[in-house]
Amino acid sequence: MTIESRWSAPIPRCSLQQWIFESSSGPLPDSKAFIDPEKPDTNYVTMSGYRFLAKRVALGLQKAGLKSGDRVLIFSGNNIFFPSFFLGVLMAGGIVTGANPMMVPRELAYQLRDSEAKFMITTDYALKTALEAAKEVKLPKESIFVWGGKTPDAPTLIQSLNPAPGVQGRIDGVRHWTELLAGNFSQAKTWNWTEPSDPAETTCCLNYSSGTTGVPKGVEISHYSYVANGVGVVFNHRLDPEWRAKEKSGRALCFLPLYHAYGQTYFIANMAKMGVPVYVMPAFDFIKLLEYIQKFRITMLAAVPPIVILIAKHPLTTKYDLSSLETVGSGGAPLSLEVSEEAQRLIPTVGIIRQGWGMTEVTCTSMAWDPNSTAPASSGVGELNPNCKAKLMSLDGKRPITQANERGELWVTGPTLMRRYWKKPEATTETIVVDSDGTRWLKTGDIAYVEEYKPGGIFHVVDRSKELIKVKGNQVAPAELEGVLLENPDVADAAVIGVTIKGEELPRAYVVKKPGSKVTGEEIAKWMESKVTRYKQLKGGVIFVDAIPKNPSGKILRKVLRERAAKEIGDS
Ligand code: AMP
Repeated sequence: MTIESRWSAPIPRCSLQQWIFESSSGPLPDSKAFIDPEKPDTNYVTMSGYRFLAKRVALGLQKAGLKSGDRVLIFSGNNIFFPSFFLGVLMAGGIVTGANPMMVPRELAYQLRDSEAKFMITTDYALKTALEAAKEVKLPKESIFVWGGKTPDAPTLIQSLNPAPGVQGRIDGVRHWTELLAGNFSQAKTWNWTEPSDPAETTCCLNYSSGTTGVPKGVEISHYSYVANGVGVVFNHRLDPEWRAKEKSGRALCFLPLYHAYGQTYFIANMAKMGVPVYVMPAFDFIKLLEYIQKFRITMLAAVPPIVILIAKHPLTTKYDLSSLETVGSGGAPLSLEVSEEAQRLIPTVGIIRQGWGMTEVTCTSMAWDPNSTAPASSGVGELNPNCKAKLMSLDGKRPITQANERGELWVTGPTLMRRYWKKPEATTETIVVDSDGTRWLKTGDIAYVEEYKPGGIFHVVDRSKELIKVKGNQVAPAELEGVLLENPDVADAAVIGVTIKGEELPRAYVVKKPGSKVTGEEIAKWMESKVTRYKQLKGGVIFVDAIPKNPSGKILRKVLRERAAKEIGDS
C-alpha cells in the first residue's frame, strides 16, 4: 500500500540555475547571498554577483575546453565562491562531482577515475593530495584550478575586468581559479546559458554514495530532480504566511560541507532561491558556530546529529545568546529523542528540532516536518515532502506492509529520484524496482514504520538493512574498507560492520590473519591511517577471527557479525 504526500507542488521544467535566478539577465537584488563571517562587511557575494560570477566561471571553463556533459570535480572545503563555481559548471553544461578535501590520494584518485573528471578545482590546503591523485590518473596540471592565496575581496574580484594575471599567478604550477575570469567581463554581461532540452534527462550532479551495497558509486541527479528537491523544501518552509514573513528576514549559517548533497541543495540552491543570506564557514568549528549565531543573529541551522549533540551537551552552549534561532533541522543519521529534548530545552525559541530523512539517491530530502506542526519532540523524521510517495515492504521485498507501526524496508519514489548510478547498470537495477505501472521505486535499505497509514503519516527510521555505516553523518562503505584491508600483507580475509559505541556509529573490522602472522589489532588500525580518511578509521576496533561467516555464494553474513559485536560490546 502506498502512502502519498499530503501536498503536490508544481515543478518547473528548467535547469537548476534557471530555477534559482529565473533568467540569465533579468534584474536580481544586490542583497547579500553568501557572506564571509570573518569579514562580513567587505567580503560577500550578492545575488546579482552570484549569477554574474557563475556566468564568468562558465565562460572560463568553456574556454578551457569544457564540453556539455563533462565532469568537474570540486575537491574543497567551503568558501563564498563555491556556489558560483558549482553553478558555473552547470551553466557551461557540465556536471559537478564533489569530494571531501580530507580524502587521501587513493580515495580521490578513485573518484577522479570513476567520474572521468575533465577538470578539478581544489584549494591550497588540499593541493598536495590533489596533485598526487591527479598524477595517478594522468589528469594534467593544466586542468586543475586552485582556490586560495591572496585574492581580493569578492565584490572587487567579481567586478574586475581581468583579475587573472596580477592576482595570484600559479600555485605549485597549477592555475589560480581567477584565471577563469580572464577577459570575459563584458561577454558575461550579455551571455545566456543554454537550457537543457530535457532537464529530467540531463544530469547536473554526480554525488558519490555506496547505496545499499558495495563501493561508492556516482549518483546521477538531473536538473529536474534538483529543482524538485528545492521545490519540496521551499514549499515546506512556506506553508504558513507567518513563517514565510520570518524567512524573509532569516539568516542561515552554513557549516555543512558544500561538496555534499545536503550542503549543496540547502545553501547553493534553496536558501538562494528563498533570498536568505548565508554565512559560510570554511570548516566546522563549534565555538565559532556559537559565536556566529550570537553575532549575526542566525535564525536557521541545517545540522546533523553530532552537532545537535554538541548543542545539547557542550558546556559552552549556555554561555551564548542563541535566542535568534527559529529553526534547527537535523538529518543524515538518527537523532535520539533524549538529545532532541535536551537541545530543545536549551534553545526554546526553535520549538521542535525538525528531523528530516533523505538519501543521496533521492537528491537530498524526502521527508520533513510540516513547519506548522506543534508536535512535541519526536524521534520521527516527519512526513513525505510534496510529490513524494513511499511504501514499506517486508525484507524479502515480496509483501507490502499495511499496518501502522509495523516495520519494513522503506521504498520511496518521486521526482527527486536519481536517474541511475553512473556507468553501473547492474547496481541501478538492484536498487530501483520498476512497478507494473512503470513507477520506479528506490529500495532504501532503511527500516522504518509509519505512525498512521495515511497522507501526512509520520515516519520513524529505526534501523538499516544495508551495509552502509554513517560516521558523523559521513558515509563509510564496508566494501571499500574490506578492499583496503585485503591489501595488507598480514590479512587473509576481512569484513567490516558498523557498531554503536557511546551513541556513535564506528567501523569495526573482523580480520583473519595470514598463517604465521603476528600482527596486532593496533598495527592494522595504524596501517589504515594512511590508507583512508579520518572518519573511515577502524575506531570501532579490530577483532581477529578464524573465519569470516559467509553464505554458500561467498556473501558476508553481516547479521551474524552484528550479533556477535553486540555481545562483545555489551560484555566489554
Ligand atoms: P546519504 O546518502 O549519505 O544521505 O545517507 C542516507 C542514509 O542516512 C539513509 O539511508 C539513512 O540510513 C541515513 N539517514 C538519513 N537521515 C536519517 C534520519 N533522520 N534518521 C535515521 N537515518 C537517517
